[in-house]
Amino acid sequence: MNDTTGPDNSGKEELEIFDAVRDLGSADNPVQPTRLNSEDSFCFSCHKGISCWNKCCTGADITLTPNDILRLCKHLDMSPTDFLREYTVPAFWEQAGLPIAKIKMSGADGKGPCPFVADEGCTVYENRPVTCRYYPLGLASVKPKGADVKEDFNFLVKEAHCKGHEESKELSVSAFKSEQGIEEYDLVNRGWIDILMKMASWKHLGGPNGKDVSPQTKQMFFMVSTDVDTLRKFVLETKFLESYEIDPEAVEIIKADDHALLQLGFDWMKNVMFNEPTISLKEEVLRSAMAKAREELGAT
Ligand code: SF4
Ligand code: SF4
Repeated sequence: MNDTTGPDNSGKEELEIFDAVRDLGSADNPVQPTRLNSEDSFCFSCHKGISCWNKCCTGADITLTPNDILRLCKHLDMSPTDFLREYTVPAFWEQAGLPIAKIKMSGADGKGPCPFVADEGCTVYENRPVTCRYYPLGLASVKPKGADVKEDFNFLVKEAHCKGHEESKELSVSAFKSEQGIEEYDLVNRGWIDILMKMASWKHLGGPNGKDVSPQTKQMFFMVSTDVDTLRKFVLETKFLESYEIDPEAVEIIKADDHALLQLGFDWMKNVMFNEPTISLKEEVLRSAMAKAREELGAT
């Protein structure tokens, strides 16, 4: 089996930043490099009446996670296909070289207001994307030298236009996350973030074990990330279930449960991209794939 861990960065700590900076066009570097642990506190408050109200919702760079799309589709009563067409632009998460969807900002240059912002604030507030919830925190993942497991931590993003940092309300990172309802998103999106971060850590070698993933795999990753309806059809109506060992009870669950379906999608992608044992091919499929590989190699 291939090595499924990320590459060793010559003894350096391996750090990946999951982008939470909403205005990437700002000239000043908005990231405060201080590592914040869950009990660390910072001063911040965002409320109607503040002089910068809604400023951060114009020309914003909002990556949509799988759970964002699920919740926004439900909020707007739209199918993922219609939602993607109407409100998103396809993009690449550069650090990982993988396709993602972002909110399509208005205006010919894509630097106008977010389609969901109104004078009173965010019109999809209760289902706003996790990037909007995290702000002004960023999320990073670090693998200390010699450690097997990565640790997540947060850092502060201070953009000049955001006056929320001048407010006196002080709260800990964990209190802020709970106030913003972030935990549920972190839980549902965990497998997806793992994939992005793992790909980012392989990037300088050109991909997992030095090989970029195929365009078809990138397309599949985009489907898993953005469209549960198509993913469900793919799992239930193609040869997927004939190829992989999936518990019949789990099959029943994914027919109606979007979160369970997403987890299966992430496990499948981890297997395809990194050869992780998150999902198993059926014995006969494995035997025939090995026979085909032997034939192609001219082995007897
Ligand atoms: S989704 Fe809401 S909070 Fe996020 S950028 Fe748009 S209007 Fe602002
Ligand atoms: S305080 Fe910051 S987050 Fe709140 S509206 Fe102003 S710019 Fe946006």
